[in-house]
Amino acid sequence: MKKRIGLLYGGKSAEHEVSLSTARAVTQALNFNEYDVFPIYITQEGEWRKGNQLVAPIDTIEQLQFENTTNQSLPNNISSFLPSHQEIDEESLDVIFPLLHGPNGEDGTVQGLLEVLNLPYIGNGVLASSAGMDKVVMKQLFTIAGLKQVPYVHFIRREWRNDQSFWLGKIEKELAWPLFVKPANLGSSVGISKASNQEELIEAVDLALKYDRKIVIEQGINAREIEMGVLGNDTPKCSVPGEIKPLKAFYDYQAKYKDGNTAMIIPAVVSKEVEATLQDNAMKAFKVLDCSGLVRADFFVTENDEVLINEVNTLPGFTPFSMFPLLWQHTGVNYSELIDQLIELAIERHTEKQ
Ligand code: ADP
Ligand code: MG
Ligand code: MG
Repeated sequence: MKKRIGLLYGGKSAEHEVSLSTARAVTQALNFNEYDVFPIYITQEGEWRKGNQLVAPIDTIEQLQFENTTNQSLPNNISSFLPSHQEIDEESLDVIFPLLHGPNGEDGTVQGLLEVLNLPYIGNGVLASSAGMDKVVMKQLFTIAGLKQVPYVHFIRREWRNDQSFWLGKIEKELAWPLFVKPANLGSSVGISKASNQEELIEAVDLALKYDRKIVIEQGINAREIEMGVLGNDTPKCSVPGEIKPLKAFYDYQAKYKDGNTAMIIPAVVSKEVEATLQDNAMKAFKVLDCSGLVRADFFVTENDEVLINEVNTLPGFTPFSMFPLLWQHTGVNYSELIDQLIELAIERHTEKQ
């Protein structure tokens, strides 16, 4: 029997457009002889629109936005929308593929909604998604797993406002310049800045506080950036490593998604020992966050071959030109096979949970 796949894309986050490109690419990679594909589009305003079953891969993003979807808003009428996915046909969908990034996409909230609906979905569950979205919680879990990281300090808005000089003192004592200032709960480098002195630090904190009440200040490191793909549930596998070479000061949103201003080197040229450490650390990160399906684990590798984990991304960029699919391509799993495997893993996880 054909599997019924719901593609959930768009969303209110800054990565709306990336999500649309990903959804288009996924329709082009899915085998329509094996799958019935149903679009579910979340507009930039947060309105949910369900689509008619796709009869062919999608060429233009507009088709995904307008032509195929009806105006059916969710927030006010969850109860009328959600059972209606069953009206699409007699049966429910077999798997939802959330192709959303950022808050309300990969932070566990949508995953929670899908849990409540008892719908199998691709990728990480509620716990891994939300722990992976909060850089402070993630770092604390990495420490428990024994993973090396850059030194950091964190605080919430109120703590900073109440006693800024205490925090400035603590930061200067514990960390060395330059620093990276980050909102705890975003991705794609949004709200992140580099600070080389106290004045820049205060400015950077003010900016980051616009995005989040929780802030992480990290010691800057001069290192290569190497990323690993992990795929699986209880017995995950690791991809070859890939290196990101930003052609800008640091790897920001513009460089990541707009300019194509980065080079990807796959496989990354590293020693056998470094590759083994990267694999071991990627697995430990996957385990300690209780991940499932997929994760991209991002590392810093210093001149002396020291490996430090930077973060994991629980719904990594997933266009055919994104690091995660390319890492698997070089490991022997092409884009279509990767999607097939993720669908199988989603069903496996759902079955084993019950
Ligand atoms: P995001 O979740 O937004 O991708 P990251 O923590 O990965 O946030 O930071 C974005 C980019 O900023 C990294 O890919 C890296 O280029 C740079 N960066 C972040 N933290 C540091 C650091 N401590 N030292 C040096 N560069 C950093
Ligand atoms: Mg991230
Ligand atoms: Mg990152």
